[in-house]
Amino acid sequence: MQAIDKDTVHRLCSGQVIVDLTMAVKELVENALDAGATAVDVKLKDSGLTSITVSDNGRGIAEDDRIHLCRKHWTSKIQSFSDLSSVSTFGFRGEALSSLCAMAKVTVITATEASAPMGVQLEYDGAGELTLTKTIARERGTTVVLSELFARWPVRQMDLKKNIRKEYLRAVAMVEQYAVISDEARITMSNRTKNNEPVVAVRTPVGADRLARLVSVLGAQMRPHITELSASGDPSDTLDLSLAGYISKPVPEAGRSAADKQYFFVNGRPCDFPKAKKLVNEVFRGYVPGKYPVYAVSIEINRSTVDVNLTPDKRMLLLRHEGEVLGLLEEAVERAVRPKESVFGVQMVQ
Ligand code: ADP
Ligand code: MG
Repeated sequence: MQAIDKDTVHRLCSGQVIVDLTMAVKELVENALDAGATAVDVKLKDSGLTSITVSDNGRGIAEDDRIHLCRKHWTSKIQSFSDLSSVSTFGFRGEALSSLCAMAKVTVITATEASAPMGVQLEYDGAGELTLTKTIARERGTTVVLSELFARWPVRQMDLKKNIRKEYLRAVAMVEQYAVISDEARITMSNRTKNNEPVVAVRTPVGADRLARLVSVLGAQMRPHITELSASGDPSDTLDLSLAGYISKPVPEAGRSAADKQYFFVNGRPCDFPKAKKLVNEVFRGYVPGKYPVYAVSIEINRSTVDVNLTPDKRMLLLRHEGEVLGLLEEAVERAVRPKESVFGVQMVQ
């Protein structure tokens, strides 16, 4: 028996962090937002098969950090385990860039406030070690370019090629969630296929509020069919619990045949919340049988009661007070989708 060598361990573990195109895109978008960017642009070539480029106008990467940037578990976001209970950034495990190096070719172009209009181009090898530093013109911010995604993982690369349309749409759906929830940053995404003009996949209006951003993702035809939802408070009044968002009105035109475009955010983090999803769908389907609502529900709750560290993608959350959250959600959804009674007893939809 022997211990697996470091390089192999790195590749094995990285394969579980960056499992698909969507995860690669998600990690780069989160890093851009964590860097305080107000503009994040995702550009794919051949739906990501040739390259994935994420540019931001965030704070850039300081000179001292360049060498450690893609090393496993190097992060600027937490220092110790106890910081986890208050962390407000998307990332904190220092795992994404290091894993991406094992799964793709990684090039970083970055400039800080102090270095702009000059910056550097950095290249890293599969183990996350810095191999090239070149001076280059760059405004403040960072661009990360991934190419040759999964080149060293033939099965996964073949799978990606075979299912590229589906994988691309999943990546778009992921970026849409960040575009809806990011109040401070405008997120755009486009794809360029060979010999073709770029196709815009995500572009929220400049300066738009959350509703306008959601409508831009859903399509303008949905605007008349969306209503607001909100609620706050908890029995013990210690959770700082509130929720707010938008959901389809209880009319068939507002529903969809598939349970898609259904977003949950917990403390600003897009996440999967199967129990809540089931609950909201059931309430809606009680009024509009056979249809699913669209919705974007943002839940705020005391950070120390949420564990986001269950899976590397942090999409599954453990809520210490899940029952209270679901109770409040049910109440808010009921109130929002229940057809309103007019004074004449005629059923009205808001
Ligand atoms: P994490 O986000 O968990 O810290 P990552 O591997 O995603 O781990 O990133 C490592 C570090 O690299 C981050 O903590 C951050 O300091 C820096 N970094 C990554 N992307 C950017 C970016 N777009 N702008 C500025 N700094 C970045
Ligand atoms: Mg990160």
